Amino acid sequence: MVKKIRVRIAPSPTGSPHVGTAYTALFNYIFAKKHKGEFILRIEDTDRERSTLEANRAILQGLDWLGIDWDEGPNIDGPYGPYYQTERLKIHQDYAQQLLKEGKAYYCFCTPEELEKKRKEAAERKEAPRYDGRCRKLSEAEIKKLEQSGKPKVVRFLLPPIGKTIVHDIIRGDVVFQNELLDDFVILKSDGFPTYNFACVVDDHTMEISHVIRGDDHLSNTPRQILLYQAFGWKAPKFAHLPMILGKDKARMSKRHGATSVIAYKDIGYLPEAVLNYIARLGWGYGDQEIFSRQELIDKFSLKGVGKNPAVFDTDKLNWLNGKYIREILPERLIDLCEPLLLEAYGKIDFKYLKKVVLICHDRLVLIPDIVTLSKYFFTDDFEYDPEAVEKHFKTDYAKKILASLKEKLAKLDPFTKDKIEPIFKDLAKDLGVKLGVVIHPCRLALTGTLQSPPMYDVVEVLGKQKVNQRLVKAIDSLPR
Ligand code: GLU
Repeated sequence: MVKKIRVRIAPSPTGSPHVGTAYTALFNYIFAKKHKGEFILRIEDTDRERSTLEANRAILQGLDWLGIDWDEGPNIDGPYGPYYQTERLKIHQDYAQQLLKEGKAYYCFCTPEELEKKRKEAAERKEAPRYDGRCRKLSEAEIKKLEQSGKPKVVRFLLPPIGKTIVHDIIRGDVVFQNELLDDFVILKSDGFPTYNFACVVDDHTMEISHVIRGDDHLSNTPRQILLYQAFGWKAPKFAHLPMILGKDKARMSKRHGATSVIAYKDIGYLPEAVLNYIARLGWGYGDQEIFSRQELIDKFSLKGVGKNPAVFDTDKLNWLNGKYIREILPERLIDLCEPLLLEAYGKIDFKYLKKVVLICHDRLVLIPDIVTLSKYFFTDDFEYDPEAVEKHFKTDYAKKILASLKEKLAKLDPFTKDKIEPIFKDLAKDLGVKLGVVIHPCRLALTGTLQSPPMYDVVEVLGKQKVNQRLVKAIDSLPR
């Protein structure tokens, strides 16, 4: 029987989950969906000092926002739980006991000070620090005595000292590690908590994980994990190590590169589908196609299409994608996203008016909060004229005449609608024998203070007769006679 595809992400709640977490989550999620398998979220919270509830919440929130739903994990119990690693302590300890009994692990009583001293000595000899295995040969009686003296102990894995361990990686091919370069690593700490490599193997095995898809910063851990699988006589899952995400300066993505926490992208004004599309394309390609719906990602994704080289995070490209996605979303959703920002910036606003403003600005947004600056002149009269535009479009022979004429004609217009507004501009240009732009530019500047705005006739209609009149009067008064 073919084993069911079961993949997982196993984030540690030790800081806000960054884009790397979302990236690993997405690839696992797509892989699971593609193969009709299951995607599991396991929270690796055994680092008690650094794990926080806040970071845990941020992981759940970030994935939730992106719509990367897990089939089993926190809040969604399944048959392989618990899904918080600390709640699995007994399982880890029992398996550590099994290795101890079988002579595949041993107690070590070396103190942190002794180990530190050895590390320093190794560094002086320019050697990689490795545990020298001194507690391997402790007799039962010696162990008892040390235990009775109250000396803290850890459990170390007895590593096969020779030979090599090969990671058959789906993305990178075979990667060979010489066992002699590894050492008897700790599997259970003195506080009884498992170390990452040990807990990961026990949990991946007991949760029947079929594929481990994770960042290649873990590649060096994989031989240790494979050796543990061998010691238990378990079949190891298949491994795929995803390339790292780097900032534009080619350094590993960090806080320095702007928003790294997943949920921060929401606050900046990205749409989850844009972020998903962007991160999917970061490490994976499908010809030169850039835009993928979630279903298309599922249909077209393969681990073989994942590159080996680190991916560079490019905010400009993400912004471009976001703008594209914003243009596609339903007006209702856009209004929902923009409304709180506009209310915060400009106070109470008539909802009908707000709706109209958002709709005519729709095509111009790159990030959702752009709505606030782009629509400023709809909500306040307090704006300056762009000085460069003033030179070009107010200080002309025609400007005053054009604005005065528009003021007069628009004041009489009823109904004040786009289809009636348009001919006024066109006729005026014709009467004056000038191009349409010569009429539009000074008017745009008078009404908005800028030369960039949504189409003029829309702006005139939405601002309404009274506001348009006031602004034209103000502009005319500002011009020399
Ligand atoms: N807790 C590890 C991390 O957050 C999990 C790595 C893995 O997927 O095995 O990096």
